[in-house]
Parts: sequence; structure tokens; C-alpha cells
Amino acid sequence: MEPSSTDLQTCKVRADAPLVIVDVDEVLARFMHGFGTFIARHGFELRFDRYALFQNIYRPGETEHLDLIAGRMLFDDFFRDGSGDLLPAIGAADALADLSGRADVVILTNAPEHGRQSRARWLKTHGFDYPLVINSGPKGPSAADLASRTSGPSVFIDDLLPQLDSVATSAPAITRFQMVADERLRPLAPADPERHTRIDLWPELKTAIELKLFL
Ligand SMILES: [Mg+2]
Repeated sequence: MEPSSTDLQTCKVRADAPLVIVDVDEVLARFMHGFGTFIARHGFELRFDRYALFQNIYRPGETEHLDLIAGRMLFDDFFRDGSGDLLPAIGAADALADLSGRADVVILTNAPEHGRQSRARWLKTHGFDYPLVINSGPKGPSAADLASRTSGPSVFIDDLLPQLDSVATSAPAITRFQMVADERLRPLAPADPERHTRIDLWPELKTAIELKLFL
């Protein structure tokens, strides 16, 4: 059985509670900032030229990015060993703590399976002690499954446009919010604000979520 489907099956959602489904990287965690710190300690640098990952890793002074296989290895190492470099997004823990008094919160992340332990520990340490669902691929079907378990309204928060589109397709009744925690990535992130409300600051985002869930 797929680990992600086990997570989904065991994840508890109250049958009448509003539901917040939330991503980790660039939503609860400042992924690019942490990844940049991690690879700098390995002698590489991250440049913010585009909304991509492996194409932004360079050896200092070089104009060609690192080859994708080497980039992928750094990425895998980071998920296993680099969580100490990962900082929480400002205001995220407070906002979710507040929302969780009146709603269920589920963390839906596409972390690689080998990063599960490290990710679970990081979330707990930073005040994100909510059910964790490790997903792979488009999040729409998983979000639809979770939302179908409650008669209450649901919201979904992610930084990536394809994931927001996936949820819009699989479960159009879920309200979508796009949030990009890193200031340098914000202008680079593809967005579609007509379809998915874009709010990059947690205090404002929390207010918008409250308006959707509790009114
Ligand atoms: Mg993300």
C-alpha cells in the first residue's frame, strides 16, 4: 500500500468541522531560504532567477547551473538532514493555532518519503502539531477525499499553481488560497488570482480563511 494512502486513511477529520488543508514548503516553512543555507554549507549557491529548484543551484562564479542529478542529490540530502536550516514562515504557527480552535487542520505535503521523520519532527518543533499526510503528485484527489469527510467548508493553501489547479479540478467547492512565503520568490511565482486568491502574509491570510470558514 502507498504510504500516502495510509496517511489519508488514518487521518481524522471531524464530520461537521470546517477544514484547513495546508502545504508545508513556502507556506509553513521557508523552503528556499533553508535550502539555500544548506547548499551554501556544501559550497553551492542558490540564485533566484526563476520559480524552479534544480535550475537555480550554481557553483559560485559559474554561469551554468549545476547538473540536475547533482541538484537532485542535494535536494534529497536536504530532506533527510537539512531541517535544522529550515525556518518557519512568519505568523504561520500563530495563525494555525488560532484557526485550529474552530477548525480541523491537516498538513498535506509532497515531501519525499525518506524525509518523513525529519519533516514530522520539524513540524512538531515549530508548533505545527497537526495530522500529516505525505502525498505525491497532484494534491486534488487527496484534498477532495479529506474535504468529503466533513459537511463543513474547506480551504486549501499552497504556493504552487499546478496544485491549486489540481484542487480546483478535483474539488471545486474547496476555497483555494495561494501563499508564497519567500519575498524573493513572490514576484516569480506563477499565479491566477481570479481563480485562487493570492495572499502572501499569514495574518491577512488567516482573516480571509476565517471569512470563508466561520461566517
Ligand atoms: Mg509548497
